[in-house]
Amino acid sequence: MRKLELHWQILIGMLLGLVFGFVMTYPDWGPEFVQDWINPFGTIFVKLLKLIAIPLILASLVKGISDLQDISKFRRIGLRTISIYVVTTVVAITIGLLLVNVLKPGDGISDETITKLTETYATDTAVTSKLEEASRQRQRPLGFLEDMVPDNAIKALSENKLMLQVIFFTIFLGISMLLIGEERAKPLKNFFDSLNFVVLKMVDLIMLTAPFAVFALLANVVVSSGDPDLLLALLRYAGVVVLGLFLLVVFYAIVVGSYTKKNPFWFLKEISPAQLLAFSTSSSAATLPVTMERVEEHIGVDKEVSSFVLPVGATINMDGTSLYQGVAAVFIAQALAFDLTLGDQLTIVLTALLASIGSAAVPGAGMVMLVIVLESIGFPADKLAIGLALIFAVDRPLDMCRTVINVTGDATVSMVVAKSVGKLGEPRVEDWDEYYEEVK
Ligand code: ASP
Repeated sequence: MRKLELHWQILIGMLLGLVFGFVMTYPDWGPEFVQDWINPFGTIFVKLLKLIAIPLILASLVKGISDLQDISKFRRIGLRTISIYVVTTVVAITIGLLLVNVLKPGDGISDETITKLTETYATDTAVTSKLEEASRQRQRPLGFLEDMVPDNAIKALSENKLMLQVIFFTIFLGISMLLIGEERAKPLKNFFDSLNFVVLKMVDLIMLTAPFAVFALLANVVVSSGDPDLLLALLRYAGVVVLGLFLLVVFYAIVVGSYTKKNPFWFLKEISPAQLLAFSTSSSAATLPVTMERVEEHIGVDKEVSSFVLPVGATINMDGTSLYQGVAAVFIAQALAFDLTLGDQLTIVLTALLASIGSAAVPGAGMVMLVIVLESIGFPADKLAIGLALIFAVDRPLDMCRTVINVTGDATVSMVVAKSVGKLGEPRVEDWDEYYEEVK
């Protein structure tokens, strides 16, 4: 019998997880049962993915750079990647702002709902902790550059949060390997090549458990979600965010079809396992190993490009998050009758761009940076908690959706950059690996 394709397996796992989660909201003991006995399997899966993220970046980026024939090519890839990331992010924020200004979801929300949301969430530790984190992250002008340079390579490699430092160190290592010449760099190159194969195999093995893991993750999301009435009250706002995210997918599909000349539906199908995982984990960092594997082996982007574009994208390119920040900021202003000028909206474009660069690729990070976006338009500090309380109830489902777009955006840009430097090839069919085969 032919095995079901991976994305179908994952999708079925997700649906069963949702249904199971709903059923478990009925008995009193249900939510606790899911949290104690089901959720750990989801957590273990996410931990495994995170476990291999740093070795994968290290091995594949060193391999990518040391395969380059000359450094000027790397400079070209680097500059293009960053510029395209800025463009896609600005497109995303613009779509978000246009929709929220035309559809005005904040005007339709009643005072009663605002009071109820404020009472439920404004003093909730989940909201206040976001405010605290935002105040810690308030940026110094060149803080981002400063933070990117590690002063201890081992420390950088030991912290998933320090992904940009790892990328910096690895690029430095790879370039220096190029400069000492092939002969001298060979032992190190062989080591990283081999490590790269091993880590990619680890991704395959972890992915075999994905359908079960997403079951656990989604069941847990359902049992821990808030009051359904409050979720419904925010339906219009959530609808605007989701519509914006959908338009972004259309934008990516047009870019893929017109520039890379590949079929956009094929592209979406091939990266769908990564998208489904992004949805289930709400973390583009945890999804990164799978995104890299899909883009390289199933889409045909050369490692020289993907090994740089994707890890950098996971940390600095968050189109879904920036669209959400634009919509959320204006929605909060509309609901609390805080007037925004055109200048304020332009400020939102700029700060949401910087905020999405600064957001960590983990669940809920977008909401922390939203505080900084709100502050930039002069939103009163004493009302920040109320503002966040207004959108908190739907933040997790929206986080799941925006993470899918963050990952899709990175994959799209990797195809565009690869095409522009002649590195978009055919998928490597022999590497297709959705089945477990023991070495005899
Ligand atoms: N969860 C998102 C990500 O990992 C970030 C966010 O928007 O909160 O890409």
